[in-house]
Amino acid sequence: MSDSQRLGEFDLIRRFFVRDTCTGSARRDGYGGDDPASGVALGQGDDCALLTPTPGWQLAVSVDTSLADVHFPADAPPEAIGHRALAVNLSDLAAMGASPRWYVLALTLPDIDTDWLEGFARGLHRLADHSGIRLVGGDVTRGSLSITITVHGEVPAQTALRRDGAGLDELIVVTGPVGGAHGGLRAWQSGERDDTDPLLHAYLWPSPALNAGEALRGLATSAIDVSDGVVADLAHICRASGVGARIDVEALPLYPGLAERFDEQTARQAALTGGDDYVLLCTLPEHALARAEAHLAAHDCTLTVIGRTVAEPGIHGVPTEHVGWQHFDVEPDDRSATGATS
Ligand code: ADP
Ligand code: MG
Repeated sequence: MSDSQRLGEFDLIRRFFVRDTCTGSARRDGYGGDDPASGVALGQGDDCALLTPTPGWQLAVSVDTSLADVHFPADAPPEAIGHRALAVNLSDLAAMGASPRWYVLALTLPDIDTDWLEGFARGLHRLADHSGIRLVGGDVTRGSLSITITVHGEVPAQTALRRDGAGLDELIVVTGPVGGAHGGLRAWQSGERDDTDPLLHAYLWPSPALNAGEALRGLATSAIDVSDGVVADLAHICRASGVGARIDVEALPLYPGLAERFDEQTARQAALTGGDDYVLLCTLPEHALARAEAHLAAHDCTLTVIGRTVAEPGIHGVPTEHVGWQHFDVEPDDRSATGATS
């Protein structure tokens, strides 16, 4: 790109990251991100945003960094990179049962490539609009491609879904099929680029389970989003809640296309230990299941029971050959803590 086409930092922010969806009064400096209707008393353009939380609700705050060639392939479509960077953050709100409100974006770019930025911003803003979350500030720096997003959600006081609330002899459920993103990653690594393929789509365009999280408030006793794989994420719930778990491997809902693409062993392993699916993994007492199913049906979402909590610590019922630890960076301590046994 020639120097005359280069954008200054402020032009870049205004062009790609200031939306014209504000409901507030226009600003002289072109930022104009105020949006009182969305609780944004003062948006981009000042040193801080000023936000108006809902009385009686708690703020749920989370940050995640996505690095090129660590968390996503650097040559993935820019739309997908923008979508995915926000989706993984929204998924943390979903896992708490929180409703998305506001986010800030710290973007480090190797250079200013307006085509790439247009695609990135399109993917980002489309998911933000779909999820009802507002961009209220950020930062732009030069360096290796890195995207850090901090999301702010809200949840009625004392109703957040936490990891430490699972009780004994409760059902363990997932809100969607698993293993698809891992299958998609493998497809990407083997050179496939058609992101209409269901597995590649699952990997590049994850869909945070926001409706499911909100619908499970007051019904699930614990929840986590599946980012590291069912076994690893269930182990987090078990450790925090002081319970063990028995998984019924046959009951795991495999992502459509997974069983056709891979042999059974690989497909089950992807479902148990592949990450990045971003469905929710929850516990709930058996008597709450029918009500939870009814709440979720309104959002076209089904629950699948995949096991039960038990007193004996560790994750039980998973044949060792399905766990595939050698593919994952798991500390020896974590291995014994998950206690995967057959
Ligand atoms: P400061 O010097 O106070 O850090 P900046 O010059 O970095 O402010 O940014 C100017 C304004 O633009 C701030 O309100 C900031 O929140 C906003 N902003 C900067 N980068 C981004 C971005 N990537 N997305 C959204 N808003 C941004
Ligand atoms: Mg700054």
